Amino acid sequence: MTIQFISLGSGSSGNSYYLGTPDYGILIDAGISFRQIRKAFKLHQIDTSKIVALFITHDHGDHIRHIETLIDKLNIPVYCTANVHSGINKNRLIRQPIYQDVHHVEKEKAIQLRDFTIEAFEVPHDATDNVGYCFEVDGKVFTIATDLGEITPTAAHYLEKANYLILEANYEEEMLQMGSYPRFLKDRVASRTGHLSNFAAAEFLSNHYQSKWKHVWLCHISKDNNHPELAYKTVENRLKEIQITVGKELQVMVLKRTVASDLYEFD
Ligand SMILES: [Zn+2]
Ligand SMILES: [Zn+2]
Repeated sequence: MTIQFISLGSGSSGNSYYLGTPDYGILIDAGISFRQIRKAFKLHQIDTSKIVALFITHDHGDHIRHIETLIDKLNIPVYCTANVHSGINKNRLIRQPIYQDVHHVEKEKAIQLRDFTIEAFEVPHDATDNVGYCFEVDGKVFTIATDLGEITPTAAHYLEKANYLILEANYEEEMLQMGSYPRFLKDRVASRTGHLSNFAAAEFLSNHYQSKWKHVWLCHISKDNNHPELAYKTVENRLKEIQITVGKELQVMVLKRTVASDLYEFD
């Protein structure tokens, strides 16, 4: 079965990813508008009616801003932890609390959704509750770990078992420290419940390298404290030290902040 992946937007201005089979698919996060999603789908000749569910990682605005219109336009159920659910309903971006068709997921307890086996897992971040997701479909494993201050052993476990990784590379340490963010914000980003740096992503990928890894998409790149090429080079150079050539053993791509990615298809 061909599995499709699209990043619809990745970063503080809005996050959403699509993972699908030829017949249907799932959205992860609701930080991108229905209009933008429809536009990207049209470009890739996929009908938005194929979307059957929405999974939410955490209740920060860049991941939930468009949840109401997406539920309304796509008429799909939402999956998130009970705590993320209550966080969403308390968020000032949400006009009407969402109660209908919300399914609470428990961390590290697999659920089945048609061909997908899905597990949420805890990540350290500063929303009400924060998870990554591991999706297994047709023998392929996709793990998404975004918005995490550090890669805990739990997060490492789910990333190690993947073939396809969507991993945060938010900031370059020096750019963050020399940049214009106020002190409290620099501290927040760099904290253990903040975001993952290029260095931390690269260290993880080299120290935990798995030959079953095929693709890594670096996500949630900061506009102010990072450059796509810098994130890429940091990872490429670190992997070179363990004799892994990016583009050969492993594909590494940097996801764009405000533009949808190519349609990636895997057989
Ligand atoms: Zn975010
Ligand atoms: Zn966040």
